[in-house]
Amino acid sequence: MSGFFDTKIEFLKGMGPQKAALFNKELNIFTFGELIQHYPFRYEDRTKFFKIKDLHEDLEHVQIIARIRSVETIGDGRKKRLVAHIFDETGEMELTWFKGIQWVIKKLVPGAVFVFFGKPAKYGRKFSIAHPEMDVLTAAQEERSFFQPVYPTTEKLRARFLDSKGISRIMEGLIASAYPQIQETMPENVLQRFNLIPKKEALRQIHFPENPEILKRARYRLKFEEFFYVQLRLLKLKLTRTEKSAGQILNQTELLTKFYKEHLPFELTEAQKRVVRESFGDMKSGKQMNRLIQGDVGSGKTMVAFICILIAISSGAQACLMAPTEILANQHYEGLKEYADLMGLNIALLTGSVKKSARKVIHETLLSGNLHILIGTHALLEDIVQFKNLGLAIVDEQHRFGVAQRAKLWAKNERFIPHVLVMTATPIPRTLAMTLYGDLDISVIDEMPLGRKPIQTVHRYDKDRLKVFGFMRKQIELGRQVYLVYPLIEESETLDLKNLMDGYESICRAFPEYPISIVHGNMKSTDKDFEMQRFVKGETKIMVATTVIEVGVNVPNASVMVVENAERFGLSQLHQLRGRVGRGADQSYCILMSKYELSKDSRVRLDTMVRTNNGFEIADVDLKLRGPGDLMGTQQSGVADLLIADLSKDAPILTLARDAAQELLQSDPDLSQPENALVLRQIRAQKKHEINWSRIS
Ligand code: ADP
Ligand code: MG
Repeated sequence: MSGFFDTKIEFLKGMGPQKAALFNKELNIFTFGELIQHYPFRYEDRTKFFKIKDLHEDLEHVQIIARIRSVETIGDGRKKRLVAHIFDETGEMELTWFKGIQWVIKKLVPGAVFVFFGKPAKYGRKFSIAHPEMDVLTAAQEERSFFQPVYPTTEKLRARFLDSKGISRIMEGLIASAYPQIQETMPENVLQRFNLIPKKEALRQIHFPENPEILKRARYRLKFEEFFYVQLRLLKLKLTRTEKSAGQILNQTELLTKFYKEHLPFELTEAQKRVVRESFGDMKSGKQMNRLIQGDVGSGKTMVAFICILIAISSGAQACLMAPTEILANQHYEGLKEYADLMGLNIALLTGSVKKSARKVIHETLLSGNLHILIGTHALLEDIVQFKNLGLAIVDEQHRFGVAQRAKLWAKNERFIPHVLVMTATPIPRTLAMTLYGDLDISVIDEMPLGRKPIQTVHRYDKDRLKVFGFMRKQIELGRQVYLVYPLIEESETLDLKNLMDGYESICRAFPEYPISIVHGNMKSTDKDFEMQRFVKGETKIMVATTVIEVGVNVPNASVMVVENAERFGLSQLHQLRGRVGRGADQSYCILMSKYELSKDSRVRLDTMVRTNNGFEIADVDLKLRGPGDLMGTQQSGVADLLIADLSKDAPILTLARDAAQELLQSDPDLSQPENALVLRQIRAQKKHEINWSRIS
């Protein structure tokens, strides 16, 4: 099969080298195999013809047979347009063109009959269609009923007559010659059990469906297959890992027991206990741990991490914790140092701003084994950072790290790959987690420490600012502190900074009696830390900042989070920001400020924030609004590879496909049985194109 589908598209009838080059460049399509997977994203119903009198404004696209009465051009220069008056036996309407007038005018001969197709809109009392598609009416056409595929295309392709219709013509040729060559890619028993139609049929019907039912089945079959192979690969990877990657046995709990008895500052939540148990189970198993801990902001992931660190050290290994920003690394260091000191353990912080001499000490003590715990940023990944025996590597807020960077952690222990714990406060919807981290074990901290009051969230418009200031003042008078956050868009740093500075000045004017901190990305990190520390110590009452405070910062006394231009933030960002408050015993508040005019999506985002504190619910809405690629950063997600399945809508298919993949692997772990030969072949064929899945964790 591969031979034919590897053929370059320029050899396709009606294509030629120039058009092929455009396909390469614009759509990244090079081969027959890639082209045939360029699926329509919707279909137009060409089975139905409308009469002019039956038109109404809610119709998406309509097809009408009508005769030309007259044609005129109106206006000139850039405003010039062509209007054709057409009629059928029930009424009259207009067609308009703003472009391509010279070309179309030749065809619009009064008296001629065409099939017109497009979206009707009402102007005054008459309907009109702008830039309709038109076809000569032939007897064949009147009889032929079909769904017309609508293909993704681009401006440049369109300029070369490769609009949806042009692509469709090429596709017709491709399907005709490819059809006899298409081989089945799913195992027979899976096809039967899940009632899937053959690949051949699916590919033909997805492009040129005969009716809605068969189209539905074609889509289902192709989505199922897509999920099936993603899951199969992930599960296979996991299998290989658990078989092949021996893990250092970390099973001692001496320090842990001591810590529990003497220093644990609070009772762990049931969820924390469960996740500790799950992680400990991995660490002592003799197999390498690859575990993702998901827990909402404030759910207490750090304590779980520290407990695992204690197990590692009890067992004679070292541990490291990597954070995405210097501020966050600092805070982890400060927090954990307190416990480490109590336990008599050595801990150090390694970031870009650590001085050379101090670095040298860190490098040496790491290698000698004297240093038990290393906290840091990317600086941890440098080759010069060598451990005596790294047993546990923890990565906080994992989604901010590049995939390749994480892989570097693995190389820090030559004898055993270190156990890996990945912690994320960005709740990932189940479907996405299954696809992205299908090869990781997942633990969820789905419970907040006792006594937390849910944060109250409100949405206010800019005109309410004085009232908001009044509220802030009352809270400060009660002894609380307030965050005020401004958005940061990278394209326009200067503008952002100006916004922030203007905001800062107006806050200083409004609150002359209180000391105020300001932190933003353009500051030196020592200055940043200085300001941050003032706020942490309670010396300043208001912290004006950009999103640098988004992750990690922990000031339990801060009870109000005001987000300026909240409409410009993404949902997960808003949720992260809100998580900065509500860390103490006091009632906390989140105030989302926005302008009055909002886009539909912005409004959904703000409403969602007001409605719920549940990170998973928020993540689900986010997934629906933004799509999965965006959510994770496409390059590292690998989800962008999904051609037809949609993670936000096709969860039920994913679940079935995963089960099917699991069962297949259970009965034939290395896919060596003859009936699974095609599965193996398929996996190998796909491997050529894809990112390295083994590097995901
Ligand atoms: P996150 O999961 O966002 O990293 P942290 O680990 O920073 O959350 O914990 C948030 C706060 O809750 C910290 O001040 C921490 O000391 C506290 N905390 C953690 N676990 C508990 C618990 N079981 N009971 C009470 N407070 C807790
Ligand atoms: Mg944290």
